[in-house]
Amino acid sequence: MDIPPPTVADVLAAQRRIEGLVERTPASTYTELDRLADDAGASGARLVIKHENLQRTGAFKARGALNLLLQMSDDARRRGIVGYSTGNHAQALAYAARHVGAPCTIVMPMAPNPVKERAVRSLGADVVLHGDRLEDACAHAERLAADRSARLVSAADEPDLVAGVATATLELLQQRPDLDVLVVPVGGGSGAGAACLVAAAVAPRVRVVGVQAAASPAAHDSWRAGELLTRPNATRAEGLAVGRGFALTQRILRAHLSDFLLVDDDAITRAQRAYLTAARTVAEGAGAAALAAVLTHPALFAGARTGVVCSGGNASEAELRRALAST
Ligand SMILES: *Cc1c(COP(=O)(O)O)cnc(C)c1O
Repeated sequence: MDIPPPTVADVLAAQRRIEGLVERTPASTYTELDRLADDAGASGARLVIKHENLQRTGAFKARGALNLLLQMSDDARRRGIVGYSTGNHAQALAYAARHVGAPCTIVMPMAPNPVKERAVRSLGADVVLHGDRLEDACAHAERLAADRSARLVSAADEPDLVAGVATATLELLQQRPDLDVLVVPVGGGSGAGAACLVAAAVAPRVRVVGVQAAASPAAHDSWRAGELLTRPNATRAEGLAVGRGFALTQRILRAHLSDFLLVDDDAITRAQRAYLTAARTVAEGAGAAALAAVLTHPALFAGARTGVVCSGGNASEAELRRALAST
């Protein structure tokens, strides 16, 4: 069964619903980043960084989780939610669950980013470590949710989640109505799908470009093939570590996405370094992927006012060391 995508009315309602519970994050420009893009070959590109790394819980996902949980019935809230995540979806669900008073269990793949695991636990959620990959954690979360009659919250096939996430793009287009292109990292595709919905409705001139890690290309390959595919899932950027395409978000991306780029993990690490040194901001790997795409596919962005979504900042210490050691 096809899940219908949210409408712009849903996004506007979400914006009202979550106001005060999320940050209106800055959309900032940096001369030094523009110079890096120019040196890389994107001559005259002007980058506008949407700082969702400064969002509550350190990533844009809080917007979606709050919009979803605030609409659950009292009865459903009492039964609680189960999620599966490498970290940021988990933190967002735990944050929203605490806000509405719902029990929350998160299944994470073994050896999670310690920053994210700690944050989920300190938000009061139960953490279960299971399997090596997100797909293993997902299967276990499905069993737990069925056993407990709890609500399983998918990472992407959730219209309320996509509508909430879309408030980031709405906000950005309000802050910077003159963008030519918007570059968005993709894992399950909620962020990029949301950007597509909003841009198509309120700024159809704006091209939306998706970016995925070459080591985990399921959404990219699904989009190019026009069917839902599973793919190897080996990126270090755990926010992008997804091994399959999702029906709802692929449907939106197919209708509206103008291009889909792949970046390798080392380019992501170099982009994290660029954020640290040229913008004095902390991006996790997934958060730096969109900048990595601009720096590695510069011709596409020359002369363009380019919105770059810095989607999250929950980098582990090891990750930051690697970024600073990169050249
Ligand atoms: C989840 C996440 C992504 C990918 O978003 P999707 O909506 O799954 O495509 C990108 N960056 C960060 C920081 C994330 O947490």
